[in-house]
Amino acid sequence: MKYYNIKNHSQKISFREAVSQGISSDMGLFMPEAIPMMDESFFKRLSEMNLPQIAFEVGSKYIGDEISSISFKTMCDEAFNFPIQLKQINGKKYVLELFHGPTAAFKDFGARFMSQCFRHFSTSDNQKMVVLVATSGDTGGAIANSFLGIEGVDVVILYPSGKVSELQEKQLTALGNNITALEVDGTFDDCQAMVKAAFTQFEAKGKIKLTSANSINIARLIPQSFYYYYAVSRLKSNKPVISVPSGNFGNITGALLAWKSGLPIERFIAATNINNVVPEYLESRVYNPRKSIQTIANAMDVGNPSNFDRLFELFNGDWAIITSMISGYWFNDDQIRKHIEDEFKRSGYILDPHGAVASLGFERYLNKNPNSIGIIVETAHPAKFFDVVQPIIGQEIPMPESLNNCLKGMKSSIRIRPEYGCLEEYLRDKYSE
Ligand SMILES: *Cc1c(COP(=O)(O)O)cnc(C)c1O
Repeated sequence: MKYYNIKNHSQKISFREAVSQGISSDMGLFMPEAIPMMDESFFKRLSEMNLPQIAFEVGSKYIGDEISSISFKTMCDEAFNFPIQLKQINGKKYVLELFHGPTAAFKDFGARFMSQCFRHFSTSDNQKMVVLVATSGDTGGAIANSFLGIEGVDVVILYPSGKVSELQEKQLTALGNNITALEVDGTFDDCQAMVKAAFTQFEAKGKIKLTSANSINIARLIPQSFYYYYAVSRLKSNKPVISVPSGNFGNITGALLAWKSGLPIERFIAATNINNVVPEYLESRVYNPRKSIQTIANAMDVGNPSNFDRLFELFNGDWAIITSMISGYWFNDDQIRKHIEDEFKRSGYILDPHGAVASLGFERYLNKNPNSIGIIVETAHPAKFFDVVQPIIGQEIPMPESLNNCLKGMKSSIRIRPEYGCLEEYLRDKYSE
């Protein structure tokens, strides 16, 4: 499989190159040349397959012969060594819980798969890889956790000061070793812009190679399709609606890849908080990226979603076709809080603020399409946002052990202004001779 640059279709590179570049020098994202179709025998066996097996069969199509089957099998087993669950909460609604990994958010799927790819490829490279990542909350923790201690790889995480939860901050600042946290006095969009600028402007001297761990990296996107095969195959009725709480639109793009490969899905719901650039586009055809606004679903506080280009590309930029498959809804903090409370009273299920957005989106759709069955994607464990959720439901949420351990760590970060020059200075000090 070759990967092409969506800004320059004639630039085609291997999977390995796409992973190590992250984004092209003209800021184009890479896409697989063709979305692989999964065959009938795969779909017949699907309901018996576990996630590592699904990952191996689907992932092999994207990777071709660039990694041997034996190695790739081990990589999938190691990346996805934690459970995944689909729970029914009423006659219409299922919850796909993607928060049983080490950092209690769905980012673990992409980060752990990507770190396996880096580990595999870096053993044959003698340059040091410096992985730059901007985080609105959960990405940094997942990347830090899955890249900790990998030889030949340094991770530099940029996060907006004061805009992530205490737990999220500990997850990305307390590990040390090859992980450095830069605390930026600005927003997530500033962090993302600084990382993007580094790719076009920073001249790495021979010794190092800069790459990205944001969902612009294809090795994070592909694994975000695997769990959709799992979820759909576990339903008794086929063709569900899938509601994805969206920020950078990587998770929903993963779902679209699965659908394009033959997975039966009725419709997608792009559910957001008040950072509603994409739902607005779906409604009005006008795409107007702008500054992000802080909300209680902070991992979705994105004003200029980086995967939108890919989503657009999957539909050849045709608004009519996009809207025939995707509906968009957005909700404010009060609606999110109220829904967490309502769902808890109704079913006893504790949603986190992100999953609540997905759940609200599905309910909105269900009003007009009462026969649909929906899978809502729960992207974070509610304990990760205990400060928001506990007062709403009026009781304590038991902490998963991984989060408890993390709270004991010591924060260590380097504070910088939200300017590319400051990031450059840091990189130059650390990595030039
Ligand atoms: C990152 C994140 C999202 C948004 O996912 P995208 O792929 O950026 O759309 C939603 N919920 C949680 C908890 C997240 O960490």
